[in-house]
Amino acid sequence: MQYDTIFFDLDHTLWDFETNSKEALSEIASTHQLLNKGIPSLQHFLEEYFVINEKLWEDYRKNIISKETLRYDRFHQALKKFDIDDFELATAIGNDYVSSAPYKTNLFPNAIEVLEYLKGKYTLHIITNGFEETQHLKLRNSKIDHYFDHIITSERSGFKKPDERMFHFSLRHTNAKSENSIMIGDSLEADILGAKSVGINQVYFNPEEKEHNEELTHEVKDLKELIGIL
Ligand SMILES: [Mg+2]
Repeated sequence: MQYDTIFFDLDHTLWDFETNSKEALSEIASTHQLLNKGIPSLQHFLEEYFVINEKLWEDYRKNIISKETLRYDRFHQALKKFDIDDFELATAIGNDYVSSAPYKTNLFPNAIEVLEYLKGKYTLHIITNGFEETQHLKLRNSKIDHYFDHIITSERSGFKKPDERMFHFSLRHTNAKSENSIMIGDSLEADILGAKSVGINQVYFNPEEKEHNEELTHEVKDLKELIGIL
């Protein structure tokens, strides 16, 4: 068999980041009375927040900003979109978010079925740019931690996907060979092109069918399609 090892990304691939964030932020909005402070609706806030969060995560990935800046600045910037310039509020929301979001447990459709199918056939690991403590909490709370032998975070390796060193670290750490491994993830740049750059085959999880011109090993829009591939 060609593969013996599967590396999974976590956020937006298995753990439904957007749904879980929405749940956490809806509770936070009511705790901090955001709708009485000039934000017209939760939906408006989420739309701004998701764009800002995505952009700041990219900056974090490129080592332009720190973890601390990412945690608080995303809320400060989102609040400012509604003319609320309140760093204290942003800090409180940032802290609340970090202590509530990892306890949300929504996974992508068919995640458990697919992990059940794969677990006997392959050794499974996580490679994530997320934070050490947060990612372990998410895996444990959503009850999928037992499927994975190693959880490799960028905090632990010192490198972030798509940096080749993150993948080399992961291969070394798990005793895996690039030619017998496959990477599954939702980020074309971080997961797919990163894996490709070190000779690891890839499955691009692309539920929104985003357009691109890259040559990939496989592309799926539902995790259950993995059963036909692996
Ligand atoms: Mg991801």
